[in-house]
Amino acid sequence: MTTAVRVRGLTKRYGDVQAVGGIDLDIRTGEVFAILGPNGAGKSTTVEILEGYRSRDSGEVSVLGVDPGTPTREWRSRIGVVLQTANDVAEATVRETVRHFARYYPRAEDPDEVIERVGLTEKADKRIRQLSGGQRRRVDVALGVIGAPELLFLDEPTTGFDPEARRRFWELIRSLALRGTTIVLTTHYLDEAEALASRVSVVAGGRVVAEGEPATLGGRASAKARVSWSDGGERRTLETETPTRTVLELTHRFDGEVPELTVTRPSLEEVYLQLVEAPA
Ligand code: ADP
Repeated sequence: MTTAVRVRGLTKRYGDVQAVGGIDLDIRTGEVFAILGPNGAGKSTTVEILEGYRSRDSGEVSVLGVDPGTPTREWRSRIGVVLQTANDVAEATVRETVRHFARYYPRAEDPDEVIERVGLTEKADKRIRQLSGGQRRRVDVALGVIGAPELLFLDEPTTGFDPEARRRFWELIRSLALRGTTIVLTTHYLDEAEALASRVSVVAGGRVVAEGEPATLGGRASAKARVSWSDGGERRTLETETPTRTVLELTHRFDGEVPELTVTRPSLEEVYLQLVEAPA
């Protein structure tokens, strides 16, 4: 297992504001890693430092083995950043735009293949301004990956999407990850992090307050479970540390199938809200 991004003790201050107050991160090669946190937590500042677009005050940072404080052209070509498509390309077609950007990279992918991968083959000859918001975002991703990056940064990729467009976009991100691209995602949507990320880091007040797999973050998997069932038409709910035993007892009581049984643990959203409301 190799490390794509390693950060130790990163700090950044703007005047009186300590935007980043000592962040550590380890992002493994090939994983989808999500950075979560409320507005003003320091996510964008951190990501921009990793991308080589912002200077830091202190700390060690290595991105694909290079210090992004002194970026080289060769290093930049190994990194993809998904930006919002600029309006000045809106008059060009999807194919023209992707072909144009391909020329900037030494190991660019085939433009038509990338257009296919982001699901825009049927729109390839349409002008960008004629596309829907979700389709435009797919163009942004196409431009982010045309240079065959080893590491892709996605900042709030699905803001403003309807649920169906988000799901289609997630499939696209998964297909990129399957090809071995390391993906660093910042998002406001906890279901998005849960659907895509192998690990997440929760940032609040410029610090990491929790880190781990979405399923076990903040003790989720071992927190009290809510067992709920229907008893003669009435809903009953019990909070318990031993849900297996509770279900077993219910199975005996109902002599088999427990009506409308559910067993749930705190959602990622519930755990997240607790974490960011009481920063460590
Ligand atoms: P996030 O991306 O989590 O919303 P940011 O990294 O954008 O957080 O911001 C962290 C803090 O730094 C906020 O308090 C924000 O107002 C401040 N900040 C961000 N960029 C600048 C800047 N260029 N100049 C001054 N303050 C900034």
